[in-house]
Amino acid sequence: MAGRGNGLGLDADVVVVGAGPAGAAAAIACARSGLRVALLERSRLPRERPGETLHPGVEAPLRELGVLERVLAAGLPRHRGVWVTWDDEPRLVAYGADDSGPWQGFQALRAPFDALLVQRAQELGAAVHERCRALEPVLLDGRVAGVQTSDGMLRSRYVIDAAGAGHWLARRLGVELDRRSPALIARYGYATGSCPERDDAPAIVADAAGWTWTARVGDGVYGWTRLALSQPRGGDAVAPAELGALVPAGRARSADVSWRAMRQAAGPGWVAAGDAAVVLDPASSHGVLRGLMTGRHAGRLVQAVLAGGDERRLSASYGSFVAHWFEHDVRALEELYGRLPEPPAWLALSSRPAARSSAARRSPAAPTSRRRHGHPRHQSARRQGPRGR
Ligand SMILES: Cc1cc2nc3c(=O)[nH]c(=O)nc-3n(C[C@H](O)[C@H](O)[C@H](O)COP(=O)(O)OP(=O)(O)OC[C@H]3O[C@@H](n4cnc5c(N)ncnc54)[C@H](O)[C@@H]3O)c2cc1C
Repeated sequence: MAGRGNGLGLDADVVVVGAGPAGAAAAIACARSGLRVALLERSRLPRERPGETLHPGVEAPLRELGVLERVLAAGLPRHRGVWVTWDDEPRLVAYGADDSGPWQGFQALRAPFDALLVQRAQELGAAVHERCRALEPVLLDGRVAGVQTSDGMLRSRYVIDAAGAGHWLARRLGVELDRRSPALIARYGYATGSCPERDDAPAIVADAAGWTWTARVGDGVYGWTRLALSQPRGGDAVAPAELGALVPAGRARSADVSWRAMRQAAGPGWVAAGDAAVVLDPASSHGVLRGLMTGRHAGRLVQAVLAGGDERRLSASYGSFVAHWFEHDVRALEELYGRLPEPPAWLALSSRPAARSSAARRSPAAPTSRRRHGHPRHQSARRQGPRGR
């Protein structure tokens, strides 16, 4: 792989690690501006991921990235809101509406959805390296200047970490994570069959220990996610009663969804996007939207720096954008969990930015807001509609 240099000894202008929504969006943004892009993915594509409920806000970045028509043509199920059973009776919390009608989310199986994005990046000239694992960043004069991969070294002017929740680059550069929750382990799984009451919209139902999410994710396929808020190792990995009559598809799985963000999301020669930069539990349900938006912004940052822009200023501005979004969603989750009949005891700590870090000690509890709000999906729909308003 290495050694196909361009005369400057470089294999690409930018190496993007990870071919999820964040990496594909970054690759599209860079390739479209004429940069030579290498997109690395450790798995064989297309690969499965959880996260099938897409907020209506994805329409704007999908359009801008040039894939909205293809996503619409795929005929994915749409929904106008989420059935929420929290501190009250079940109610459909709509995403919102504007002059052209109600905003609608998508239900998308992630393998074909993510593949549409990767395909677009390829069409624009990005070189996709499947089953190629990023091992270590290459460092040169205090900058990230490439990636040592399982297939050899790739030298580049920039590296975008979009490798997801394992925080590939943060770990290797020693960038601290700002942690705002204790360990939160989500259980999730799938079942096939028929569950008509779940066909119009996903549902989230709270109980004394946490919440359960169910959704139709494809034809005859339903997904569930369970988050026990006060059990560090996660709660039971059992499909909810609603899907009890269906046939389990594979075994239940687990994911670390603790709230965390990189304290610095960009630096000399590098930028992090998507889950690599920020992870929140799926009740916030912005993971794919955040991946698309931060991936696109990361691509623009690289383009601007390589065109002669001020790297420090552009990196700081990108970092503020990521941090602002993180703070917003942390607040929304705090308010949501604050309305549980028995809010988790750790909740009061999470509202203090300095309360937790990878190396930090615990701080004394601070009071949290108990204002009444809708579900975070609803709040975000107000903040940014599907047409980017
Ligand atoms: C149970 C659960 C339910 C969720 N539900 C929702 C939901 O309903 N809606 C929603 O919007 N979000 C949801 N999310 C969040 C969503 O899954 C993520 O936020 C989203 O996938 C992030 O996209 P990404 O591109 O940053 O990372 P990913 O989609 O994780 O992609 C990262 C890619 O990098 C690759 N990679 C990793 N390490 C390396 C390496 N060293 N070298 C090369 N490649 C590497 C991985 O194989 C992967 O393909 C959910 C998450 C969980 C755990």
